[in-house]
Amino acid sequence: MSALVISDVHANLEALEAVLADAAQRGYDEVWFLGDAVGYGPDPNACVERLLSLEPRVWLAGNHDWAALGRLDLAAFNPEARLATEWTQAQLLPEVRALLEGFSPRMDDLEQGLTWVHGSPKHPVWEYILDSSVAAAGFEAFRTDLCCFGHTHVPMLYAEGLDGVERCRPAPGQPLNLEAGTRYLLNPGSVGQPRDGDPRAAYALVDLAARQATIHRVDYPIERVQEKILAAELPPRLALRLGFGW
Ligand code: ZN
Repeated sequence: MSALVISDVHANLEALEAVLADAAQRGYDEVWFLGDAVGYGPDPNACVERLLSLEPRVWLAGNHDWAALGRLDLAAFNPEARLATEWTQAQLLPEVRALLEGFSPRMDDLEQGLTWVHGSPKHPVWEYILDSSVAAAGFEAFRTDLCCFGHTHVPMLYAEGLDGVERCRPAPGQPLNLEAGTRYLLNPGSVGQPRDGDPRAAYALVDLAARQATIHRVDYPIERVQEKILAAELPPRLALRLGFGW
């Protein structure tokens, strides 16, 4: 069984389509989506509808999804994120809003040994796992062998070993072995707003039978999305940052 793992689409339809086309060529059995379908980007409704067409086994709520539903205090957002959230709130179709209302920021499948969170196992909505010490605390908050998380927009693998937590920045296209008996936290990176200096859309394929995870990066028409962001009068920096992957 292999899974397409995607996170942080952020209303970037061009990036989502590029990821789906690339992943379709490699093949996968099911989709795990780790949250933040909307926020920042110009196509919130279309992205939610496209995600829905994939019939994901896992669909989590992210902090931007909840913000767009009015479930989070926007004071916690920076000014650009706040403006983008207010814009998104005005765009969301009633049926899209109703769909997003149904998701939670964490799921567990104890039988299969899988956990999925948007932010971290400890704080699934808000916490960023950006270093090994936060990852170490995260390992205490789930019981399964593999937890997939998003939210940082940076592809990363943390392994819980005897000597503490090891961090590995995966090279695109290089399969990583998930050793039996070791527990992992895996971030597939962001589809719609990468923040690791590589502007290409990111996703992961996890092959549970082969116990391997691979990060892939895909080019997409960034300029088209930048034009849409400017035309929608979203903050111009949200267009700029896509070009840098930051
Ligand atoms: Zn996000």
